Amino acid sequence: MPTQPSGDMRGKKCAAVLLGPQGSGKTTLARSLAARNHIAVIETGNLLEKEIRRGTPLGQEIKPYKSAGKLVPMELLQRVVSHELEQMPGDFVLFDGFPRSMGQIDLMEKIFQDRQLELCAVIILALDLQIAEERLSGRRICLQDGTLYNIHGNPPRQDGICDRCGGKLIQRQDDQPEVVRERLGNYVRETIPVIEYFREKFKPLVREEPATLPPEQLEERVSRLFDQLIAQAPPKE
Ligand code: AMP
Repeated sequence: MPTQPSGDMRGKKCAAVLLGPQGSGKTTLARSLAARNHIAVIETGNLLEKEIRRGTPLGQEIKPYKSAGKLVPMELLQRVVSHELEQMPGDFVLFDGFPRSMGQIDLMEKIFQDRQLELCAVIILALDLQIAEERLSGRRICLQDGTLYNIHGNPPRQDGICDRCGGKLIQRQDDQPEVVRERLGNYVRETIPVIEYFREKFKPLVREEPATLPPEQLEERVSRLFDQLIAQAPPKE
């Protein structure tokens, strides 16, 4: 297990971790940062979902866990994340929603070692869990291009249709109310200890932001931090 930030970035890529309850806007923020700071993003929730939609044997193994709102076992998660990392360009990777349990911290460490990654920032989006539950129940996603909407806060121009590509909008199976409660329960039991761990062991790298800030403001604040990190990274040997 990592115990201290080493601060030695020689020959390494920067890895940032984005954590917060479901509905705190992690994926929306991660996508804006990807576009603005030209960084790669590992969206664990959506990668797992894509694997299910592709109908692969791995996707079939993942499906029962994800549909029930339970954390996907680490061995399956590792296969999906490692495969995605193999194809990722660039020197900065943002992990959206990983690690989510204390057990995944060991997996993170292993993946970082294999891929020459060094933890350089931990972004925590703080949100009241009741607001998180309301936000999730209104969430819709485009089946075609993955654009996210919220029928309360950020509705599409036309009901059920993606503004960008005309694709059909759906409610994810795991955004149904009972599953949402299970996911938020997991967050409290499994992910809050991870946040506490980072706060304690990696204090200088942790940045907490209120998830209720206007999205552009949140993006601006985190983007500035990432710009600094990118500027500080030493040239590759
Ligand atoms: P999210 O959209 O990030 O809330 O993820 C949706 C679902 O994907 C979760 O309820 C889990 O079933 C699964 N999932 C996402 N990230 C992880 C992870 N780091 N470890 C295990 N399961 C995950």
